[in-house]
Amino acid sequence: MTQMSMLSMSGVRKTYSTGVVEVEALRGIDLEIENGEYLAIMGPSGSGKSTLMHIIGCLDVPTAGSYRLDGTDVSKMSEKQLAEIRNQKIGFVFQQFNLLASLTALRNVELPLVYAGVPASERKERAMAALAKVGLAQRVQHRPGELSGGQQQRVSVARALVTDPALILADEPTGALDSHSTREILDLFQELNDSGRTIVVITHEAEVGEEAKHLVHIYDGLLREASPAAVTGARR
Ligand code: ADP
Ligand code: MG
Repeated sequence: MTQMSMLSMSGVRKTYSTGVVEVEALRGIDLEIENGEYLAIMGPSGSGKSTLMHIIGCLDVPTAGSYRLDGTDVSKMSEKQLAEIRNQKIGFVFQQFNLLASLTALRNVELPLVYAGVPASERKERAMAALAKVGLAQRVQHRPGELSGGQQQRVSVARALVTDPALILADEPTGALDSHSTREILDLFQELNDSGRTIVVITHEAEVGEEAKHLVHIYDGLLREASPAAVTGARR
């Protein structure tokens, strides 16, 4: 493994202890992602996708193994340190958009910059630019309830972009969208990747997985290589 990787995981395991039984959700994940990658991780329900997403996204830490994100060892960080890393390095896109209903699109997109302590005038400028990038310059004063599902997801992509993160991490980003809006979001990801953004998409939909540059499958807590570049040491 090189030091240059955007993301580098080695022997990552995650065991959930429920008191009675232990569930091994991840059983030794080796994954390396370079800058500019567009990777899809596909697997059926219960295969460990969300668990892996939580670890990649610094929402949780592994039980064992190492994880470096953009040069920083994050596998043993405290809650507080993880929160800071998340804000600095990762833009999240979730299935259910996770927008605040009472706030305009503009305010929603500004939020990560509020947490990062960016001054108000700069916040507004950057949020406007991010909304323009996703094609919503004409909708900045709309609230989520006044936008279609596809538009809401584009607002959340703008929110993910606004901090200029090292990685965009999407968990079932089209899971709540119709086929037209799905196409729009996939085209947007393509465009963002073409302009150099690193993207990881977690999905159970083949249509979404096949759009990415590389595709890996997850089964029963282990990665299997679908294209050679991304996985090292995976079982075949
Ligand atoms: P997926 O997102 O692919 O459906 P998950 O990562 O949610 O898979 O789950 C992987 C395995 O870990 C499943 O067997 C699931 O039941 C178990 N699991 C997930 N989260 C927890 C938890 N918080 N406590 C106990 N078991 C869990
Ligand atoms: Mg899941």
